[in-house]
Amino acid sequence: MTTDAVALVDVPAQLLPLLPLPDLDALPDARARGAECVWSGEPLSTATAVDLGERPSPHGTTLFLRGCQPCTLRAVLGAHRAHPGTCEQCTDDPTLCETRRALRALALELRR
Ligand SMILES: [Zn+2]
Ligand SMILES: [Zn+2]
Repeated sequence: MTTDAVALVDVPAQLLPLLPLPDLDALPDARARGAECVWSGEPLSTATAVDLGERPSPHGTTLFLRGCQPCTLRAVLGAHRAHPGTCEQCTDDPTLCETRRALRALALELRR
C-alpha cells in the first residue's frame, strides 16, 4: 500500500458546466492554459491540479482549465448548494437526483 501517492480527482464531464467560474473573458494567460488555478492563480503541478476540461473562450480560442483542490472544492460546494433551485428532480425528490449525488461524491473526494 502506498500512502504518498496523490490520487488525482476526476471531475465527471456532466458536472463541469455546473461549477461557477471566474470571468473567462478576463482570464490571465497562465490560468487560461491550466498552469495556474483558474480561481486563485495558485501555480499547479500535476499532483495538485484538478482537471476542469477544455472550453471555448469568448475570443474563439480553447481554454484548458485546471483548479487547485481547495478552490475546486469550494466551487463544487457552491454548485451543490445552488443546484436544487435549478433542478426539477430535486423539487420532486432530491434523494433520486443523480446530479446532486455526483456533486456530493465529488466534494467528499476533494476533501481528502
Ligand atoms: Zn485555487
Ligand atoms: Zn437535482
